[in-house]
Amino acid sequence: MAKRDYYEVLGVSKDIDGKELKKAYRKKAMKYHPDRNPGDAEAEEKFKELSEAYEVLSDGDKRAAYDRYGHEAVDGSAGGFGGQGGADFSDIFGDVFGDIFGGGGRRQQGPAPGADLRYQMELSLEEAVRGVEKKIRIPTMVGCKPCSGTGAKEGSKPSTCGTCNGHGQVRMQQGFFSVQQTCPRCQGRGQVIEDPCTSCRGRGVTEETKTLSVKIPAGVDTGDRIRLAGEGEAAPNGGRTGDLYVQVAVKQHPIFERDGKHLYCEVPINFADAALGGDLEVPTLSGRVKLSIPEGTQTGKMFRLRGKGIKPVRGGSVGDLLCKVVVETPVGLSKEQKDLLDQFRESTTGKKHQPKSSSWFDSVKGFFDDL
Ligand SMILES: [Zn+2]
Ligand SMILES: [Zn+2]
Repeated sequence: MAKRDYYEVLGVSKDIDGKELKKAYRKKAMKYHPDRNPGDAEAEEKFKELSEAYEVLSDGDKRAAYDRYGHEAVDGSAGGFGGQGGADFSDIFGDVFGDIFGGGGRRQQGPAPGADLRYQMELSLEEAVRGVEKKIRIPTMVGCKPCSGTGAKEGSKPSTCGTCNGHGQVRMQQGFFSVQQTCPRCQGRGQVIEDPCTSCRGRGVTEETKTLSVKIPAGVDTGDRIRLAGEGEAAPNGGRTGDLYVQVAVKQHPIFERDGKHLYCEVPINFADAALGGDLEVPTLSGRVKLSIPEGTQTGKMFRLRGKGIKPVRGGSVGDLLCKVVVETPVGLSKEQKDLLDQFRESTTGKKHQPKSSSWFDSVKGFFDDL
């Protein structure tokens, strides 16, 4: 049977560009894909024809040869669809069928991707708030250098897998259905290595420790992840390299407690300062600031310092610093100081200088009277 013109097969003009070509191919391939036409031999033939045409026309060199000499020039390489064009092929079906059939069981086309890595990074509160650049060392799989990741011994090349003719997938008849499976011989790679590389024993990857510089943006918090695309493990069979996720954990701070973009701290104050009011020095992450407290400040009172908190990593207004003052009872007093406090006690007894105790004693009195 004479082969049809490849442009005609795809229904495109001779001057079509790569992008439009891919589009045209996707449209037709979707229509004739064996999964959508189970048991339809004609559709399968059409699908093969399409794939073959696309494989040639999507490759600049092959397309030029085809344009000049016709089918003869490219027949050898396009004997079966897939072949050397395996990467492109899986790329197209990866997203075409990923989109159409939804997330449920996106089939593995071609070699499996490399593993994603996770790195747990502990940061001080200051580092998390200001941002920091950190060097990390991670053990990882990288592409093997002597064989350039092919897994084949220097000077040799992987050859097309004979079991699947380079498709990476084989069809199995099960009753009425024809099921597509990853090729058991080449594990979906479409190629086999006769003479493996000695450094990586044919895997195409070797283990190495690499040092990476990670930029942590200002405002991160525990649980935030930073993705470093392509810094994960190299795939053993030439697939996509995985990603590295840096998982942030912020350490406890001796003074500040964090709640999202707000900071809390406790400020111990002298009871004379609490009674008389005045200026306190309180710590913030950017140095000390003055906090004026009014006369008669009670213990536990919270003061809000606007904008002295954290600028969130995802944007938005800067948080606040909340300072809780805690009145301290003096200890280790001298005789003289005790005398002063005695005088102080006498001068306040029976007068309304203690707002809380006054109402407390009133309640207690009421409680006993009611009994
Ligand atoms: Zn195979
Ligand atoms: Zn190697």
